[in-house]
Amino acid sequence: MPFLTQLADVARRTGGPVTEVAGWKTRGHGPQPEVQGIVCHHTAGPAGGGDYPSLAVVRDGRPGLDGPLSHFGLGRSGRIYVIAAGRCWHNAPSTSPRHDNSSSIGIEAENNGVQPWPTAQIEAYIRLCAELCREFGLPASRVKAHREVNTAKPDPHSLDMNDFRASVAAIIKGDPDPSWTENIVKNLPLIRLGDDNFDVKTVRGCLFARGHVPPAAYAGVQDGLEGWLKSTRCDTALVELVRGFQRAEGLDEDGFVGPKTWPSLLRV
Ligand SMILES: [Zn+2]
Repeated sequence: MPFLTQLADVARRTGGPVTEVAGWKTRGHGPQPEVQGIVCHHTAGPAGGGDYPSLAVVRDGRPGLDGPLSHFGLGRSGRIYVIAAGRCWHNAPSTSPRHDNSSSIGIEAENNGVQPWPTAQIEAYIRLCAELCREFGLPASRVKAHREVNTAKPDPHSLDMNDFRASVAAIIKGDPDPSWTENIVKNLPLIRLGDDNFDVKTVRGCLFARGHVPPAAYAGVQDGLEGWLKSTRCDTALVELVRGFQRAEGLDEDGFVGPKTWPSLLRV
């Protein structure tokens, strides 16, 4: 495995703020050999000092341990700092072969070791772990606290890692919020025979994409398939195709595109 130059993009997929620390793409103790796990830390830095006062230490190291110490930093605000793309010295000796320096990614979250965790920071922590799991094909069970894979470490303090992993797993699974689907469908119009509007084109496009438009349907149409797809009219031929789709999907064959048929057409 080379230097992990995709890490900033992975971080941005959380939807939260990301800072790329200058030089991160070539920073590391050589390239990262593999990614089998993720290790969560707290910095044990100062209680104050801004969002991420431990940046210099995590990037450059401290007496007796050269930097970089971890791939990511996590500020109190939830901002993600991308610090290194190569191997980092964040967990040795490890009790897990999937969480040593050569096989895992480290995240150092700013916290002095006793102060409460801001909600925004914890939410970003969970989202970052979930996106890393997605990127590297890992289950949530591979996300570990440093204290779970190193008997001499206490960090990160006070986080229930089973709860933490359950939240990571829910994001990986990507269960859509039911209200999200409902909101989309709620805003779609009912389409029926005689309608003439642009939403009819959406119905045509979806039917075609789902394989429910045989060549015979557009054989006699000007410009063939292209002309058929552009038509904004809901005619009897289209209603018959809708019925065929509804039959195949186990829906009521009423020929109306409404709250039951739209989700199947759109696959939401
Ligand atoms: Zn640690």
